[in-house]
Amino acid sequence: MKVLKFGGTSVGTSESLGNVKKIVEGLKDRCVVIVSALGGLTDKLIATAKMAAEGNGSYKDEMQSIRLRHYNIVNDVIAEDKKGEVLEIINPLLDELERNYDGIALLGDLPGRTLDVVVSFGERISSVIVSRMIDGARHFNSLDYVKTEKWFNKNIADTELTNTLIKDTFSEDYEIAVAGGFISTDRDTGEITNLGRGGSDYTAALIAAALDAEVLQIWTDVDGFMTADPRIIPEAFVVVHMTFIESMELCSFGAKVIYPPTIYPVFHKNIPIRILNTFNPEAPGTWITDSAKVTDIPVKGISAVRQTSLVEIYGECASNVPEINSRTFNALAKNGINVYLVRQPDDEKAVFAFAVGTPDLERALKVVEEEFAPEILSGDITETLAIPDLATLAVVGDNIRSDTRIKARLFNTLQRDGIDVLASSTGSSQTTISFVIPEQDVTRALRLAHSSFFGGTGISDSETL
Ligand code: ADP
Ligand code: ASP
Ligand code: MG
Repeated sequence: MKVLKFGGTSVGTSESLGNVKKIVEGLKDRCVVIVSALGGLTDKLIATAKMAAEGNGSYKDEMQSIRLRHYNIVNDVIAEDKKGEVLEIINPLLDELERNYDGIALLGDLPGRTLDVVVSFGERISSVIVSRMIDGARHFNSLDYVKTEKWFNKNIADTELTNTLIKDTFSEDYEIAVAGGFISTDRDTGEITNLGRGGSDYTAALIAAALDAEVLQIWTDVDGFMTADPRIIPEAFVVVHMTFIESMELCSFGAKVIYPPTIYPVFHKNIPIRILNTFNPEAPGTWITDSAKVTDIPVKGISAVRQTSLVEIYGECASNVPEINSRTFNALAKNGINVYLVRQPDDEKAVFAFAVGTPDLERALKVVEEEFAPEILSGDITETLAIPDLATLAVVGDNIRSDTRIKARLFNTLQRDGIDVLASSTGSSQTTISFVIPEQDVTRALRLAHSSFFGGTGISDSETL
């Protein structure tokens, strides 16, 4: 049994939906198909909600174009005898969306809960269309079995409950099941929530893990997981095989190809992930498994997270590295804040520093100030400083850290080109080397790093190291 996930671009047009139909019907295997909203629709649903909240009457035109886009797709991809049935299901959903927009306009406000309802319509509608487009498919409603719980200000999957509900739901009879990704409901209130932007991958992984699928196929718009984002590095090439850890690191450092939480559930069950191209189904794609071949290249990929900030902690206390390290990590983790990198103090100045995403900066400062309140009071910490407008560049490959030449080489390459390295990783990961650099230099740094490791030719060669 296989789980296949098709992203927004794969279900974005009548032509691409034609490819999806061919791929699934050609599978001749029991499968669950998870789909995103039509490409670009989630952004549009959000933008339209904001318009309505701001009192901009054009939201009505936007709503009309959302309606028409779905009607055109139904017209193109659904068999004549099924069109009426599909419209009977999606019309009430579109009407409900419209009522939500009118409500937002009337209120002049857009609470998070309402936005969650608004964005849910994307997958609720696309999944109905795809289920009626594929011969012999049956629709399942992800709002019924993907459950979230509150964690600080976020909704996170209640994986245990979701696992049980998925097992129950999908024990029913079907050959091809189709369901929407991304959407969920709160386990306590039943309110509509979601798994976060890009979350359809995660829905598919939760289902693959619960059902012990033989593979999780992520169908997207590129030939596989590449050495870098092909939109930034045109020479980037497909990595045929990478490990779960490598893909996890690349994705947490900004490679958009898979939503980061996706990897845990399948990694845990040792279910391989395969990245495939809906627009070029013959391409071999990328296999992500628990081990890579020994002959594989040492550097698998390069990625970057923009919007990084560095927090520097000055004072005597900064020299007590193990303690400050663990207290900072624990306090931030407890508050759901991800730390990209930690810089240890050097001999010259007692400064401990860590990098976080700029959207988390304000909270991170508050958490650190609370955690170290006694030291601030006693003067062991003299100052906490935030440096914004930075990016974290990551170079990933299993055991990359065991070869010290790789880090030195990258550091020199960046410095030689005048890119200021504000911090570099010294953490525990054996798989990633990361650098904090000015955000304005990130594209140049990615290009330099890529050509340094892979050459300009797109041919990987470990000897160039
Ligand atoms: P989907 O809509 O199918 O979920 P996404 O847009 O979320 O697709 O992810 C696919 C995109 O990720 C690609 O079009 C590509 O531009 C981008 N991307 C970023 N880094 C990488 C990488 N290392 N390898 C492949 N694609 C990448
Ligand atoms: N439609 C959602 C988004 O655009 C979820 C997804 O596509 O994975 O973020
Ligand atoms: Mg995606």
